Amino acid sequence: MTIIYLKKHKEESLMRFHPWVFSGAIGHVKGQPEEGDVVAVRSAEGDTLGTGHWQEGSIAVRILEFGVESLSKNFWQERIRAAYTMRCDLGLIRADNNTYRLVHGEGDFLPGLIVDVYGNTAVVQAHSAGMHRARIEIAKAITECVEEVENVYYKSESTLPFRKNFADIEDGYLVRTGNEHVMETEHVHSLQSDVAKENGLEFKIDWLRGQKTGFFVDQRENRCLVERYSSGRRVLNMFCYTGGFSVYALRGGAERVCSVDSSEKAVELVRQNVERNFPDCTRHEAVCADAFDYLGKIQREGKESYNLIILDPPAFAKHRGAIRNALQGYKRLNAKAFEMIEKGGILFTFSCSQAVDKEMFRLAVFSAAAMSGRKVRILHQLTQPQDHPVNIYHPEGEYLKGLVLYVE
Ligand code: SAH
Repeated sequence: MTIIYLKKHKEESLMRFHPWVFSGAIGHVKGQPEEGDVVAVRSAEGDTLGTGHWQEGSIAVRILEFGVESLSKNFWQERIRAAYTMRCDLGLIRADNNTYRLVHGEGDFLPGLIVDVYGNTAVVQAHSAGMHRARIEIAKAITECVEEVENVYYKSESTLPFRKNFADIEDGYLVRTGNEHVMETEHVHSLQSDVAKENGLEFKIDWLRGQKTGFFVDQRENRCLVERYSSGRRVLNMFCYTGGFSVYALRGGAERVCSVDSSEKAVELVRQNVERNFPDCTRHEAVCADAFDYLGKIQREGKESYNLIILDPPAFAKHRGAIRNALQGYKRLNAKAFEMIEKGGILFTFSCSQAVDKEMFRLAVFSAAAMSGRKVRILHQLTQPQDHPVNIYHPEGEYLKGLVLYVE
């Protein structure tokens, strides 16, 4: 096995269980590791620190196990079973809720791995070479540990930044129990659109063509809060994607809900999801438009008014270098909402950019509020739910931030 020796004093973060070894901390390497190899990490003095996946780039090793130099034979089963047990213990897996994140990377001590479960299908996303190479073992462990899962779909073509090093990065089913013959048939259609349940609401999820793993599981708890505030309100759900917030708002008794997204496919899915839960609903409309254009248009025309607005844009900053522009984007977007929301309105505003922290986001929203001159109070400060846990030694795992504001 390759052994990575750190520079003097560079072991400190590992001693505090932070799972990343940056390339700059490496003194020398004994061996010739390949992308995704399991390697051992030692201090400059030769003390064992841990074992992890090797990768070219700034994060050179992602630690899988501290204090050892090999992984146990049942490593994948043990980790995945622990993740599953936690979700069961938390009461997340129920007849009315079969949609949840099974593995949240570092938060489940599996850096580089994301697994979302929708009914009988798990969607696996690798963010590191090591997880890509382990995908077959991971799929096997999932089906062994999670009784309900019969299909495992691998979706990493867009998340692995080092595609050139692997010829075999291809999205597709790793496990299709009982359905091996259906790839080209109609049955595939029903398989990929398996109905997922979240708090008793049903969602059609298209993991083959949808964004990320097909659904934004991370907004589950925040959607419940929207439901609580929706009664009698006119709701504008910006960046609606598959319509999670819209369906909850309808169940909460909203007078009217307008869902907006720039993706035609997303708008089609919102319509289907509303129809599935509320057949013949006349309280909902879905619009395909750019968010900034649409908010500008409503404001200019002054025909519609809203007293509950949700802003859940895609990550404006995908890396640290983009923070400045991202903050400008959040400020501009929120300013528009402050300008148009009715008196006594409630604004749910989110950022899922990992590079933008809570304070920065709050400052951007503060600036937008100040520009509008309105009286604004914070009712709730929101974050990601319990199936997206943050490893306390890896604060970078916290990415979703939200504010619920009362605007007068
Ligand atoms: N709120 C959603 C998740 C939002 S993901 C949920 O609960 O599931 C972000 C969405 O923003 C994507 O669906 C994407 O298509 C959409 N989007 C990206 N840029 C946009 C823009 N400029 N205007 C409108 N929608 C946009």
